[in-house]
Amino acid sequence: MRFAKNLRGEEKKALGKKHLNHIICLLIIFCFSGVQAQNMENNNQGKTEGKIYLVPIGVIKGWILDSLDKQLKKTFKCKVEIHEEMELPPEAYNKQRNQYFSSYILKKLHSFIKPSRQDKVLAIADEDLYANGLNFVFGEAELGGRFAIISLARLRQSFYGLPENETLFTERTVKEAVHEIGHAFGLRHCPDPDCVMHFSNSLGDTDRKSMSFCSRCEQSLEKIIRHR
Ligand SMILES: [Zn+2]
Ligand SMILES: [Zn+2]
Repeated sequence: MRFAKNLRGEEKKALGKKHLNHIICLLIIFCFSGVQAQNMENNNQGKTEGKIYLVPIGVIKGWILDSLDKQLKKTFKCKVEIHEEMELPPEAYNKQRNQYFSSYILKKLHSFIKPSRQDKVLAIADEDLYANGLNFVFGEAELGGRFAIISLARLRQSFYGLPENETLFTERTVKEAVHEIGHAFGLRHCPDPDCVMHFSNSLGDTDRKSMSFCSRCEQSLEKIIRHR
């Protein structure tokens, strides 16, 4: 419990930094559970120029990439391209934690793919990720930048010893992806608990969220896209 409180403090502190470049979507783990995800669907009216590249980090199953491809196209109204995979950088592995350092993978991604100014790059890793000061992260994005990463590891029911649920897993994955790309477009966390940009403290929060941007976030996204 104390540990969880400390993490919340760190989180608030980190998110409060004015010049924060990266928004980290962390989770507070309570014993057995605690996963976050985000939303999917979207009704935004804006026309997104540029492309979203999906970069598998190591091997990611085709159907997962196809689901993301399909949904992100719909959500952001832009082209989505599945890029060749980037090898999981072994030096990102922390043996003590048995996790990979997400910020390092993001850094490596910069030299692996050179998107144009209008493009976004979403890396998909099937490893458990962490960031400084956080016991794990579901994703990390450069706020208003081009690069983001999500981890699938904690989105599976099996991570918590529960029977697999492919539908739920896909929904969580898409939510997570939309949320992180939203950050890359410059959107911050939203107070509306139904909005895809709402911060989840737990996987339960994520599952409860809707799969859409709220009207405010939708308008902000359109504005951002118009002024790029
Ligand atoms: Zn976030
Ligand atoms: Zn919102």
